[in-house]
Amino acid sequence: MKRNKTKYIFVVGGVISGVGKGVTVSSIGKILQSRGLKVTAIKIDPYVNVDAGTMNPTEHGEVFVLEDGFETDQDMGNYERFLGIKLSRANYMTTGRVYEAVIKKERNLEYGGKCVQVVPHIPLEIIGRIERAGARANADIVVIEIGGTVGEYENILFLEAARMMKLRKPDDVAFVIVSYLPVPSKVGEMKTKPTQHAVRALSSAGIHPDIIVARSQGAIDKKRKDKLALFCNVSPDCVISAPDVDSIYDIPLNLERDHLGEILLKKLKVKAKNGADLADWKKFFDVVGKFKDEIKIAVVGKYFDTGDFVLADSYISVIEAIKFSAYHLKKRPVLTWINAKDFEVDPKKVKQLDKYDGVVVPGGFGESGIAGKLSAIKYAREKKIPYLGLCYGMQLIVIEYARNVLGLKKANTAEIDGEADDLVIDILPEQKEKLKNRDYGGSMRLGSYKAVLKDGTVAREAYGTKEVSERHRHRYEVNHEYVERLEKAGLVFSGRSPDGKLMEIAELPKRKHPFFLGTQFHPEFQATPFAPHPLFTAFLKASLKRHKK
Ligand code: GLN
Repeated sequence: MKRNKTKYIFVVGGVISGVGKGVTVSSIGKILQSRGLKVTAIKIDPYVNVDAGTMNPTEHGEVFVLEDGFETDQDMGNYERFLGIKLSRANYMTTGRVYEAVIKKERNLEYGGKCVQVVPHIPLEIIGRIERAGARANADIVVIEIGGTVGEYENILFLEAARMMKLRKPDDVAFVIVSYLPVPSKVGEMKTKPTQHAVRALSSAGIHPDIIVARSQGAIDKKRKDKLALFCNVSPDCVISAPDVDSIYDIPLNLERDHLGEILLKKLKVKAKNGADLADWKKFFDVVGKFKDEIKIAVVGKYFDTGDFVLADSYISVIEAIKFSAYHLKKRPVLTWINAKDFEVDPKKVKQLDKYDGVVVPGGFGESGIAGKLSAIKYAREKKIPYLGLCYGMQLIVIEYARNVLGLKKANTAEIDGEADDLVIDILPEQKEKLKNRDYGGSMRLGSYKAVLKDGTVAREAYGTKEVSERHRHRYEVNHEYVERLEKAGLVFSGRSPDGKLMEIAELPKRKHPFFLGTQFHPEFQATPFAPHPLFTAFLKASLKRHKK
């Protein structure tokens, strides 16, 4: 079959943020992919940070790490999970990254003596990046999410790039606006006006939407569809209903119900299968919604509060990884967020962990909440509650074991106290220089590295393979000087870097504990609905056994 010309679908947001633009992009990708098209996705974040790595998760949610080590926005995780593809740094950009590239080119005389201007040079750089990402993936369709909402100052140059692309290739570019239709409680009616304003703001950037995805608490009715169509200058078919759903994985099915795939293909003049082949997807997510047996997992972390609100966004990949493994075990996952600091205020509170089938301590940075996490780990170890530690959650296993089993009471990580007597977790040698120069951005040990597993261990059994490749994001590591002593005391380093120098997995053998394991890497970044992560599955299997007791 002749290959299609690459087509581009820009997705922008209207009215408010956080209404699921990322999931819409993932879902559009899914319904087109399921028609046999090759799809890739790009996330544009309009902030000045060069990547997402330097932001606090309470500011911007989880930092999702790609295979190539680029630190990106959590939406990239959704794209990978929905589409089952691996993305690279070519699929992510920010204002900072674009400007950095343009300034570098200017310094290298690549503009041949021209005056380098915000317009057109910045949009041209953006367009170049979008096209290169499409070509790199050999994609039929590139779905591009422009972060923020229309009318903001921040994303205007990205909208300008989209406008210029449309001008150059009118048949190859389509625009989708994901907008929100509030139902004010006192009015009780779904209101279209904010969306009308959003579309007007988009028009003033020279862009006319092809599709309006109408997000709201309920489905949009015909009357409001017609109204939006009239005032926003689109056909009523192109107003797609997107009500709130229990599971984000239902969204591709919902969009398909309103024929979004077909409409987009028609607009972009792409020939593909008529209907999306989402049968497996539908079957899987229909069934999982019906599981009755619960599995109760406590996540002990710290990035939960923003002002008066509690958000679990910082751990989205961890949540999804737990869900996928639970689904494959035919169980309904029930997650509870526990702020590690609670255990510091009242140490007795750690007993509440008894109520759960398993405990997870996810990644983190800095000192706050550490004492609480350490008491959770000690409790899980002593009471034989299944425990999974991710990154910091693994380093803390080592500290807890060193303190309470080896008797090195002052054992610590250099991240908290560089002068501690026993630095069982120390800085990676190549990192020392970087910190001295305040070179923090994109400078951790990042991305995929191999680990070799030790035979006869929990990890080796769970994976079923000898060698694995997992994504990392850390500056500190287990200090080699303590490895022998820790192992003599019973902790097993069941995964190591191929040269044997870096400890990748720490665990207790099965005869000592039903499941007590931590990974220096982040297994959660590789879990997808149809390929749950073996370590999460093994952890949940152990948790289930406890549940039954
Ligand atoms: N703070 C630890 C380190 O830098 C762990 C990082 C993490 O949990 N992602 O090594």
